[in-house]
Amino acid sequence: MIVKVADLSEVVRRARYRENVGPLNDLLRQVPRGTEHRFDEDLDIDAELYRHGPDVYFQGRILGTVHAACGRCLDEFRWSLERPFRFLIVKQAGGMEPEDDTGIDHYAGDEIDLSPLVREQALLALDDTALCSEECKGLCAGCGANLNREECSCRRRPDR
Ligand SMILES: [Zn+2]
Ligand SMILES: [Zn+2]
Repeated sequence: MIVKVADLSEVVRRARYRENVGPLNDLLRQVPRGTEHRFDEDLDIDAELYRHGPDVYFQGRILGTVHAACGRCLDEFRWSLERPFRFLIVKQAGGMEPEDDTGIDHYAGDEIDLSPLVREQALLALDDTALCSEECKGLCAGCGANLNREECSCRRRPDR
C-alpha cells in the first residue's frame, strides 16, 4: 500500500487492508531456506498511521496463514502468523544513503510504499523450526518412518 505523506497528520489514521502475498511467495521461492514456507492468503494488516512533522509512524500487526513443513516430521501443516510491528519512517536527507542499522526507515519524495516494510516483517516472523505439534515424534533416524503415524521395528533396539 502506498500512502501520501501529505494525507497524514497527527490525527491517528486506522489502516486496515490486505497485502498481496504474491511477491512474498516469489521471494520465498527464490531464497532457499531450511523449511518450505508459503503464505496461503493475503495478509491482514491492522495498523495505525500518523505523522509528526516529516516523521511518519506506522504501527500495528500482521495476521496471516503460513503453510510450512514440520521441522521434525516434514509433514505440511498450517500455522497462524501474528506479528506486531512498529516503524518510524523519516524523510531521507538530500541524496545521502541512509544508514541501515538504526532501526529507522526512510522515504524520499511525497509518498511511502508500506508494502516492503510489511513483507520484511512477515518474513522475519517465519520460524524455520516450526513444528506441526509440540508433541511431534518426528521421523525415525533408522528407517525414516513417521513416528506420529506408525511404530517401526527399530524401536525395539535395546537402547533404552
Ligand atoms: Zn511434525
Ligand atoms: Zn525405524
